[in-house]
Amino acid sequence: MATLSPILKQATPVVVDHAVGSWIHATDGTKYLDFTTGIGVTSTGHCHPDVVAAAREQVGKIVHAQYTTVMHKPLLELTELLGSFLPQGLDSVFYATSGSEAVEASIRLARMATGRPNIISFQGGFHGRTVAAASLTTAGTKFRSGFSPIMGGVHVAPFPHWYRYGWDEATAVEFALKELDHLLLTISAPSDTAGFIIEPVLGDGGYIPTPVAFLQGLRERADKHGIVLILDEVQAGVGRTGKFWGHDWAGITPDVVITAKGLASGFPISAIAASAALMGKAWPGSQGGTYGGNAVAAAAGVATLGVIQRENLVENALLRGDELRTGLEALQTEFAGIGNVRGRGLMQGVEFTAADKTPDASTALAVQQAAIKEELLLLTCGPHGNVIRLIPALNVSSDEIHVGLSKLSQALKSATS
Ligand code: PMP
Repeated sequence: MATLSPILKQATPVVVDHAVGSWIHATDGTKYLDFTTGIGVTSTGHCHPDVVAAAREQVGKIVHAQYTTVMHKPLLELTELLGSFLPQGLDSVFYATSGSEAVEASIRLARMATGRPNIISFQGGFHGRTVAAASLTTAGTKFRSGFSPIMGGVHVAPFPHWYRYGWDEATAVEFALKELDHLLLTISAPSDTAGFIIEPVLGDGGYIPTPVAFLQGLRERADKHGIVLILDEVQAGVGRTGKFWGHDWAGITPDVVITAKGLASGFPISAIAASAALMGKAWPGSQGGTYGGNAVAAAAGVATLGVIQRENLVENALLRGDELRTGLEALQTEFAGIGNVRGRGLMQGVEFTAADKTPDASTALAVQQAAIKEELLLLTCGPHGNVIRLIPALNVSSDEIHVGLSKLSQALKSATS
């Protein structure tokens, strides 16, 4: 008899039977409130009827219409619909299957378009598990160590993590931009630098919103030096932060946007978008993949974007996110172990620390585990593992937010008493 590999590290012992909206029904009959959404994927909740219907219908038409062999209707429809959400001028879209593959695609595009070798990523960033994506990832050594050598040509610049530095945000941004300029002066000349890649909110790196002034500083430097600015919106995009794209908070336009997770409510599909001029610098056939832009996933993507539009889910993410944040800040006044609460929209993080700000991973884990007993599913993140992240579905209700907060409050009590 085969068993699952221990390579998989499980956050909970739950085995799912079925799920509806924000609720997961386990095989033992327990009903959990899901604030993990498959790591920020099930944007329209579990099994939204419109998404299920679209996928069912497509399965009966064609499942796999390999997109370099024959094109299919759902991908053309998805491209048209996604186009209405894409940043101005980014009207050329390439599809893959996972976030990591789309990250790889963006790096290839930046290198091919500029003819330059180097990529600069930022401390605490998470960009995926494939070798190139892992080379850009500094959210923890667990994502890199043991399988070196990783991809060359990557340099990592500081991220303005003001809370950890113990500075105000403006000082942290000034420091990080100075360090970036120094890196461009001493290690990776602009003429050798193809791209900057950054998340609008650090995800696995600790749920830290990237300061607006930092994103604006990157935009200025990218313009000045002809460097491709890549926004990894795999986790923060598609409405999660209360704006459609996480970078909308900074009012900037990237050169390449990467999307995946929330795009199709759980069906695997990812994409990069750029201007036709930038995409045109890569030769036809330079990228592809057997499963990229799968027909069922694309149909689910069309349905997902339709639901997001019709049900005003971006606005709901903003409003429910504010309620969640207010509740978390109230819990922070009650529990001394909560050092920092932060996030945007429905992407909120709670960092556990000792009084002197030393990261406290054991309390974060104890709270996450106690929450399972309260029938609330949560995940941890951050290099130290001391941040609990809350990622409800974009259509979570106000009642569900309050139920989640009271379950979390109970979990905090039992884990810290
Ligand atoms: N980029 C970001 C910002 C992510 O959060 C993730 C997944 N957590 C990835 C890339 C990789 O996506 P995937 O796991 O689908 O390869």
